[in-house]
Amino acid sequence: MSQLRKDPIVGRWTIVATERARRPAAFVDPKSTVTDQKECPYCQDTNSPSVYEAHGVKVINSNDPILDESKPFERRGHGLYDVAHSYGSHEIVVETPEHIPNMADLSSEQIKAVFQTYALRMQTHRKNPFIEYILAYKNYGVAAGSRNIGHSRSQIMAVPVLPMRVQDKISGAEKYFDYHERCLFCDIITQELKSKDRVVAQNEHFLVITPFASRFPFETWILPKHHHCDFAEGIKGYEDSLAAIMKDILLRFKIGLNDPAYNYMIQTSPVKNPSSFKDYYHWHIEVMPRLTRVAGFERGTGFYICPIPPEMTAAFLREVDIHA
Ligand SMILES: [Zn+2]
Ligand SMILES: [Zn+2]
Repeated sequence: MSQLRKDPIVGRWTIVATERARRPAAFVDPKSTVTDQKECPYCQDTNSPSVYEAHGVKVINSNDPILDESKPFERRGHGLYDVAHSYGSHEIVVETPEHIPNMADLSSEQIKAVFQTYALRMQTHRKNPFIEYILAYKNYGVAAGSRNIGHSRSQIMAVPVLPMRVQDKISGAEKYFDYHERCLFCDIITQELKSKDRVVAQNEHFLVITPFASRFPFETWILPKHHHCDFAEGIKGYEDSLAAIMKDILLRFKIGLNDPAYNYMIQTSPVKNPSSFKDYYHWHIEVMPRLTRVAGFERGTGFYICPIPPEMTAAFLREVDIHA
């Protein structure tokens, strides 16, 4: 039997396999490939102009950008369709000068520098009046949408419209706040700490859980224990703690699941009117190992089928010995 579970934030239903669930070990990734360092553009091209550089982290404009800031943003109608050119900025964050593929193997100091870089770039992009949202994210491994270069890097996109998934989360959190007068994410933290079934790891300032209505096996959220809607402001004073918990969880994936492809996305509040989100939105990071493929049913319905309950994946990840 399976269970239908509703995500309390966006109201999306997931089908979670319970009794006939696959075992955690069935998801372990059998492959691990890295390109030769001699072919790595980030090792060879050390002279290309950077938009920001500090502590071994270098931010460059994507040479194959999806977005372009050179023309002004203009939205127009095309019949009933809305059209705009893909205005915005697309930057690559080269996380280390060394040819190291996985962020899990960077030092905590280096991981801290990467997250501080995201915050600084967000502060810069939000000054542009056309920008509505800034997403910092990582694609690691081919299955996660990355080219197989083997050099740890991530991306920052600044876009002139609010992405739908962000909008869904925000309106879900707002509805909950209107009714309960409390932050939904703060309540999730309290409940998960009480039950402990889905807690993977924690430190003084951050909690890592597998969400109740997980869409994917081993879907993981990193939640700051102190309430703040905005990543760039909210990490101030907590950078060391965040770097430590990121390294912890990425090592659990690498060791426990044999270096799988993964994505992470920083979910922060929109750029405009931050004070309107400050009570009910709560920044967090979603981490998704890419162990299964999204199939027709998911694409057609927006439902997800998660082949293993999050309680089982949390227990599996808790057991991984990251100090071995
Ligand atoms: Zn390299
Ligand atoms: Zn909160």
